[in-house]
Amino acid sequence: MLRVIEYAQRTDTGRVRPANEDSFVARAPLFAVADGMGGAQAGEVASRMAVEVLHEGLGDGTDGTVAERLRDQVVEANHRIHERAQSDSRNAGMGTTLTAAYVDERRLVVVHVGDSRLYRLRGGVLERLTRDHSLVEELVRQGRLTPEEAAEHPQRSIITRALGPESEVAIDSEVLRVQDADVFMVCSDGLTAMLSDERIGDLLNAGAPEDPLQVRVDALVDAANDAGGRDNITVLLFRVAGDDTPGTMGSQAVSSVAIEDQPTGTHPGPDVKDLDQATAVMPIVTPADLDDEDEDAHPRHLIEASGPRSPRPAGKKRRRGLRAGPFIVLFLIGCILTGGYFASQTVYFVGSYKGLVTVYRGLPYDLPAGIRLYSANYPSSVPVDEVDPQLRKRLFDHRIRSLGDANDLVSRLERGEVVKP
Ligand code: MN
Repeated sequence: MLRVIEYAQRTDTGRVRPANEDSFVARAPLFAVADGMGGAQAGEVASRMAVEVLHEGLGDGTDGTVAERLRDQVVEANHRIHERAQSDSRNAGMGTTLTAAYVDERRLVVVHVGDSRLYRLRGGVLERLTRDHSLVEELVRQGRLTPEEAAEHPQRSIITRALGPESEVAIDSEVLRVQDADVFMVCSDGLTAMLSDERIGDLLNAGAPEDPLQVRVDALVDAANDAGGRDNITVLLFRVAGDDTPGTMGSQAVSSVAIEDQPTGTHPGPDVKDLDQATAVMPIVTPADLDDEDEDAHPRHLIEASGPRSPRPAGKKRRRGLRAGPFIVLFLIGCILTGGYFASQTVYFVGSYKGLVTVYRGLPYDLPAGIRLYSANYPSSVPVDEVDPQLRKRLFDHRIRSLGDANDLVSRLERGEVVKP
């Protein structure tokens, strides 16, 4: 049977951000980090709402496994944050990452959305157990960036999944085996953007094995600050003892059943640490930014949408250039009803976002009720200003292209080649 024998945590605003938008839960058996984003204090609201749902506990274990109940909580957190974002214009567009690890009697149950991370230190070897839902990780997977390029990429803080921006969210979840003396770390990207995995491993392995975990947590946070501290930094460490044989707390009778089918007992809700407020300013792409180079009053982040988008806050003027004619609207509604929406998400076009040439996925049209058929797929490093005006006109004609075609066009622009769109 597993138990958490030691844990330590620290959160820090860092050296650049005015306040801290990370929130966390650190109370055995649950450890979670939420990294909020959005204008004003919205990010802080979103991350706090996420940990508040976890604070409510997993219930009495009568319905479903730990993994299922933890997932349900993440779904609930997404729902609440999304609702709040819809009903309160100050919090429009807010979102948060959430990475949570729960030490069950025999396994570690993990749920994950966004770019906060879970690592395991076993026998001195550090291994990352979660996959970032971020633009650069996507590009690395597609072979378009090397991990080294990704580490330096200007858009590396852009995430493709979060709780809040959409009514539904895809959640990664896993049930992992644990060994005696494993140490796990949950952290926000304020740590991992500043320190390489190698450096994190060195810091975790430094000192004597009997040093308290707090010493290592402090060393990590200090090192991230020394490296620039460009974002809020949250680090949780916990050490597990025991083995994965069934415990004596009711699971013996069902020990032949897989862990996923074993409900476990109630635990009291974990402590929730509320953190200071902050204003994280992440680049956020919304399609109404097409052809709009003005800095918006509301900071935004990019979420790669795969479904209809929520309406913009009232009082915002839509860009005329993207208005579809009535005929097209009817046609597109027809497409959606016949499943064509999904087809529309496999095509691409080129537009501009905050002055940069950007590849968009979808069709360059808005439907009534604020439904958009497109989302930014890849912001390039090429400023629109540097593109020859004649070329610009043809580049932004919103012609439908394949992903390969659109990417090829933009990457040739990035290389400074003269292109014919
Ligand atoms: Mn962050």
